[in-house]
Amino acid sequence: MLTTPAFILRAVDYGESDRILTLYTRSLGRVSAMARSARSSRKRFGGALSSFAEFEAVLRPPTRGQLMTLSEATLIDAHAALSQVYARFENAGHILLWLRQATHDGHPDPDLYELLAASIRALETADGQLPRIIALYFLLQLMAHSGFTPALSGCTACGRALPAGRSAFFDPLRGGVVCTACGGGPLLLPHQALAWLLRLARSAPADLADCPVDDPTLHAAEESVALFFRHQFS
Ligand SMILES: [Zn+2]
Repeated sequence: MLTTPAFILRAVDYGESDRILTLYTRSLGRVSAMARSARSSRKRFGGALSSFAEFEAVLRPPTRGQLMTLSEATLIDAHAALSQVYARFENAGHILLWLRQATHDGHPDPDLYELLAASIRALETADGQLPRIIALYFLLQLMAHSGFTPALSGCTACGRALPAGRSAFFDPLRGGVVCTACGGGPLLLPHQALAWLLRLARSAPADLADCPVDDPTLHAAEESVALFFRHQFS
């Protein structure tokens, strides 16, 4: 038996009464586990298996096949305040989806787990643009953990530094900003968005509330990073 804190990345109904869970755990990384009677009995796991809840999972390794079995789940924190504001709920959903897409079963990464737990906690009190900033920060850090970060300070093809204060072409397929001599790219990343993204990537999690940004800049930053992610991880 293994005991570890966990979040649910995905839940799929199985048979009459069971559920197959994709979990992100602190000690094992991503794992797939069978939760027997998770659908037929509400008492079986209490409220521990609700969306965005962190819980202590007791897992039994597989005797045959690939799936672990979730034997017990004890709630650590339901993060109930996420459902009070739609932007919190929506961005928590993005975070769990991106994490599922960027990871494979196994490969424990306790630092990434702590980043996940801290991001979900921070979302509980986030308002205005902050939920989107927290999610975008998580995505940049997730890509850094996976070894794929978009090139933002120099051309991804020739390495030349970009002139400060200038907008740049961005090519998600080639891996980041591309100078005009190297052919540019399909997206124009305004210089405000570029500068803000570089600042965000270097920020500490506690400083995200001090990264204010206007809406068009945030939108341009989100669009280019999300496109990059989609090309690298799907
Ligand atoms: Zn170049």
